[in-house]
Amino acid sequence: MNPGSWFCGADAATPALALAEPYHPRTMDVTDLLEGLNDAQREAVSAQDRALLVLAGAGSGKTRVLVHRIAWLLRVAGIAPWSILAVTFTNKAAGEMRARIEQLLGGPAGTLWAGTFHGIAHRLLRMHWKEAGLPQGFQILDSEDQQRVIKRVLKSLELDDSRYPPKQVSWFINSNKDEGRRPAALAGGDPAQRQMLRLYEEYEKACQRAGNVDFAELLLRTVELLGRDAQLLEHYRRRFRHILVDEFQDTNAVQYAFIRLLAGGSNGIMVVGDDDQSIYGWRGARIENILRFPNDFPGTRTVRLEQNYRSTNTILKAANAVIENNSERLGKTLWTDRGEGEPLKVYAAYNEHDEAQFVVENIRRFVDQSHARAECAILYRSNAQSRVFEEALLHARMPYRVYGGLRFYERQEIKDSLAYLKLLENRDEDASFDRVVNLPTRGIGQRTLDDVRGLARAQSISLWNASRALVDEKKLPVRAATALAGFLTLIDEMETAVRGLPLSEQVDHAIQASGLADMYAREKGERGEARLENLQELVNAARGFDSESAFAMAPEGEAPAEDISELAAFLAHAALEAGEGQAEEWEDCVQLMTLHSVKGLEFPLVFMCGMEDGLFPHQRSVEDGRGLEEERRLCYVGMTRAMQHLYLCYAETRRLYGSETIGMPSRFLREIPTELVEEIRPRVQVTRPLYSDRGTVNALRHPSAGSGLYEPPAIKLGARVKHPVFGEGTVLNSEGQGAQARVQVNFEKAGAKWLVLQFAKLEQA
Ligand code: ATP
Ligand code: MG
Repeated sequence: MNPGSWFCGADAATPALALAEPYHPRTMDVTDLLEGLNDAQREAVSAQDRALLVLAGAGSGKTRVLVHRIAWLLRVAGIAPWSILAVTFTNKAAGEMRARIEQLLGGPAGTLWAGTFHGIAHRLLRMHWKEAGLPQGFQILDSEDQQRVIKRVLKSLELDDSRYPPKQVSWFINSNKDEGRRPAALAGGDPAQRQMLRLYEEYEKACQRAGNVDFAELLLRTVELLGRDAQLLEHYRRRFRHILVDEFQDTNAVQYAFIRLLAGGSNGIMVVGDDDQSIYGWRGARIENILRFPNDFPGTRTVRLEQNYRSTNTILKAANAVIENNSERLGKTLWTDRGEGEPLKVYAAYNEHDEAQFVVENIRRFVDQSHARAECAILYRSNAQSRVFEEALLHARMPYRVYGGLRFYERQEIKDSLAYLKLLENRDEDASFDRVVNLPTRGIGQRTLDDVRGLARAQSISLWNASRALVDEKKLPVRAATALAGFLTLIDEMETAVRGLPLSEQVDHAIQASGLADMYAREKGERGEARLENLQELVNAARGFDSESAFAMAPEGEAPAEDISELAAFLAHAALEAGEGQAEEWEDCVQLMTLHSVKGLEFPLVFMCGMEDGLFPHQRSVEDGRGLEEERRLCYVGMTRAMQHLYLCYAETRRLYGSETIGMPSRFLREIPTELVEEIRPRVQVTRPLYSDRGTVNALRHPSAGSGLYEPPAIKLGARVKHPVFGEGTVLNSEGQGAQARVQVNFEKAGAKWLVLQFAKLEQA
């Protein structure tokens, strides 16, 4: 049988298939492609069914199957690369996918589209901005920009932002957009809801006026466009004959609507996912999409993969034991033949510095055994945790890279520069106007700006146009008018000056002419220096930016993406790629990232840090059962990244967000069977003294290991103990000798207390 019969025969009249006909540059032997796959994986790769659902646990080869399937479609079924749309979760994953496909094919994958939902939607909107009702130079609002717009809207409606916290408003707006709901669909509700609705409406107007599109909007607009424009939809349906989605468990309603629309009634669709790894419920992801998929695509072939090829049996057993505590599961079995491996290591650090030092030392030891630094991953729940690790790594002169978190493009000075550049592209970009109109200060006062905003609101025009009108119609006091006119002229002149320059020189010019460089040069000390370095880095980024690669060529007959200027492409890249600005990807460096961004990846050595209740699971989730289950899935994701070595660390005290907290070990640690775990003793020295609950400083000087004097078995640091009055707690600290020996215990109910050991009547819990 011709392995491609279903693909080529189904709908021979469509243009996509006509394109597919001559597309057989090299026919690959099927066995080559199916080699290195087990039976179930092969079944999925070469299935003839229209709809495929691969539902399987971590490390079972879902992504591998998806990549092989693409290669199989291209080489065996004779499908053209431009007929394939592959969706992944991060830009990093999309890049890796493309590289893997090209490796399999032994050549470039050309016009195949592989990207994130946001990246793909953005690309479609750039091509069809007119049909989508957007200005050509529309700009993407990131979450910080969005907050600024919301604050402005609150102000214009004279609402108090303590009653309507901008974060809450943005959550309301985004979650409705994620569900595909515009304000019109939300009428009714109590007065508070109606107020939110009004904010949503006003926010939409402000965005539309300024030509701004937030992340949720990218998708919703695309879906609405395709839903409304039958011709366009037909065009893309014919184009993307095969849609493949990785990490399907994390698609939200709008994303799912998008792939359903494109798949239509006959295109091939493959989704792969794992319900136990759904970690974006808070962003509207719906595990239920997995359940409804076979109903929406009748005749779906479901393939389950059960062999894990990634981790040792010990790691797998531990991860399974944790996830078993969740009740909402589809249930899967996973096994591995990678051997038992070593036990998981749990390290109780005194504080965050001790934790970081421990991690760095272990990485050093690992690297000294001729391993690559890139084999090591440091994972944490919250972005803010990265800083201490970065310091320790810098100190140890160990190259590292932070993924997703550092947000080079979100740093103040970078955003300031980008705001100028955005204004050059589009004067109506209100968020940018607002950001830099008086930065550096140029004598434009609050009152003038209030006038500008008032006029903009009253006439539904942009802040730029309102300023122009106020200046032209001489409606401002002379000094104010001069200052404002100065800004308008500055931007216009800047635009003239950069016209025709290479991108990096445009960026450089904007940084200098705006006065930002001088302003930051005046900022004293390391901070100012770092800012100037970052600005320099932005010029470098522009120099290295290749708009070709960001907007891969469109096939013939389609609106070419080069329609947009290089600068616009660069700005879009900055918004979409925030966080990729740091160490070079090719450099061998330690990998740092949050548990959310590590999805889909794997590393021989993994450290999960900050395993403390309140931090992980996150405080917000603890009171809410569903939230806790999502945190547990996040823990499962983290653990299943490890191939050979998994370290779990917690700190007894931690300074985070400026305050010091005393932490209990994460409940997830207790869910791991003790026989799979080896506990590592706290070390002898710490760099920062701990503060007792009485406010006195107790520099910790622990006895050398093995003296046994201060650490009888029952009161080891980190041990769980029980007190007749205070109940259960964890030993945090000890001091003194003999009859003076005292311990500090953090009791679950009673808080931290110092007790004289002799009288404390502590028992092991
Ligand atoms: P996750 O749920 O974490 O995304 P996954 O199911 O996508 O995991 P992959 O990343 O595709 O799993 O595969 C995990 C590892 O196992 C990879 O290193 C992959 O190359 C390897 N692998 C998958 N299948 C096989 C196989 N049949 N033979 C050998 N190695 C395999
Ligand atoms: Mg995967």
